[in-house]
Amino acid sequence: MTRVPVIRLNDGNAIPQIGFGVYKVDAGNAERVVSEALEAGYRHFDTAALYGNEAEVGRALRASGIPREELFVTTKQWFDRQEPAEAERAIAESMEKLDLGYIDLYLLHWPAPKRDRYVGAWQALERFKLDGLTRSIGVSNFLVPHLERLARESATVPAVNQIELHPAYQQRDVVAYCRANGIAVEAWGPLGQGKYDLFGEEPVVVAAKAHGVTPAQVVLRWHLQLGNIPLPKSGNPSRMRENIDVLGFDLTLAEIDAITALERGGRGGPHPDEQN
Ligand code: NAD
Repeated sequence: MTRVPVIRLNDGNAIPQIGFGVYKVDAGNAERVVSEALEAGYRHFDTAALYGNEAEVGRALRASGIPREELFVTTKQWFDRQEPAEAERAIAESMEKLDLGYIDLYLLHWPAPKRDRYVGAWQALERFKLDGLTRSIGVSNFLVPHLERLARESATVPAVNQIELHPAYQQRDVVAYCRANGIAVEAWGPLGQGKYDLFGEEPVVVAAKAHGVTPAQVVLRWHLQLGNIPLPKSGNPSRMRENIDVLGFDLTLAEIDAITALERGGRGGPHPDEQN
């Protein structure tokens, strides 16, 4: 069984450094996909209320018989539920669907700054943590001004910020802020979501050949060596195994630098200020 390293969060909790993403895994397939991912060795799962598969993810995790404390489950509050009473309903719904006793990591999915409600929503998450509904709390798609505002107006630094991050779009300003302030960085779209031809890029192909691994494994290894927490997604069991089998080689600094030079400066997803 692959032993994925853990990262210590700023609240003392530990998170496995590779997570399995279930965005666009429809409810009809989610139970099977999660069971196969467990079989492949994943113990960290990343879902969201928006994905519509929390109940199936929870069912597959419960059916596995794996002790709850060996699993790490993230879910997220959609941005139209940031009002305090609505936030309480949102986490109650997620908890009921997952039915795992508690959530490991609960995130604000997007800041939605035009609504101007994310500070209050964050304070609601602080209460959910105190009440034991979730062990850790964090944010997703927060840019530096959003993080700075939380730092000014709340008492808790997010444990993580989950952002779009891959060699072609690295958000270096956000990552630098997170590293400087003890916020762990989770990478969504870690393989570029198929929107960039990362696997055909020369530094990726050359490193894959040098280490006898696949281009996807090189990209995931790049994330791990930089300290990111990648959340690759695949519905295909052999790719699930491939994406977690990334612990047996090390990229050289020169290889890492060559892959880092693939930055192209364009996001694949929405701009966080525009997702409202
Ligand atoms: P990804 O970069 O993981 O790309 C997934 C696609 O890459 C798959 O559909 C598959 O076609 C391909 N792929 C996977 N493994 C491969 C391999 N070994 N070889 C070749 N191709 C392979 O992108 P994603 O699924 O969008 O992101 C991963 C996870 O991040 C999501 O499932 C979700 O949990 C999370 N996410 C979060 C947000 C957010 O706003 N917080 C947004 C998008 C995704």
